[in-house]
Amino acid sequence: MPLHESEAIILQSYPLGEADRLVSFLSRTMGRMRGVASGARRTKSRFGSTLERLSHIRIWFFERETRDLVRISQCEVIESFLDAFRDYASSIALSLFSEITQSVLPDKEASDANFRLLLLCAQTVKRTSKAEPALAYFALWTVKLGGWLPPLDTCSRCGRSLLARGESAQPAYFSPSSSAIVCANCRRPGMRVISPAAMAVAQRMLAERLDRLTEESVQGRAAREVTEVMLDVIEHQIDRKLISRELLESA
Ligand SMILES: [Zn+2]
Repeated sequence: MPLHESEAIILQSYPLGEADRLVSFLSRTMGRMRGVASGARRTKSRFGSTLERLSHIRIWFFERETRDLVRISQCEVIESFLDAFRDYASSIALSLFSEITQSVLPDKEASDANFRLLLLCAQTVKRTSKAEPALAYFALWTVKLGGWLPPLDTCSRCGRSLLARGESAQPAYFSPSSSAIVCANCRRPGMRVISPAAMAVAQRMLAERLDRLTEESVQGRAAREVTEVMLDVIEHQIDRKLISRELLESA
């Protein structure tokens, strides 16, 4: 049984048996994995709070050839997000980060870009206590990295530019089932409207790192629109509703 060491982020953990935990984590070098932390629910467990959701840790684990589950041997906290979960809006965003990462990434396929995105967005929510821009950024980039982002600059049907600014700016229209963003002329009933402000925010988020976006350039309502559209795309791709999204709608 080879021992592996990796940087990782905890996605979820569930009670297992009397004293153990089943842990889903994103390893920076090995991708999404699941493992058992023996005795993690005992009061004097050697794991302490390292297995809390989104904890950024260094992890040591044994891979077992015949089983999907690795055996987690030891963890060390690099950064904890426990405090950020105390704020309601932040906790919903953080829950969506972990649920989405868990849902869209395949088993055991390393993706450094997804790892960095998750860490950057969690750190931004923790640092700023502002969930909305980070959530929009996370959802948009998850869709982009998944290869599911339709063109944002031209209509997917007729090819007309969607980039008009100022007075001439028109809303765009989005259909999750065809993953297309279209112009006013090509819209069909039931499509979601995307305001010019939201289109502009999405463009900016593709061009700038989250921590370099200024507050003025990302308004809450426009960010929320981007989030809704991208969560629609994600739900269409995974073919089910995201559980944490219901909390977002009630917030
Ligand atoms: Zn069109």
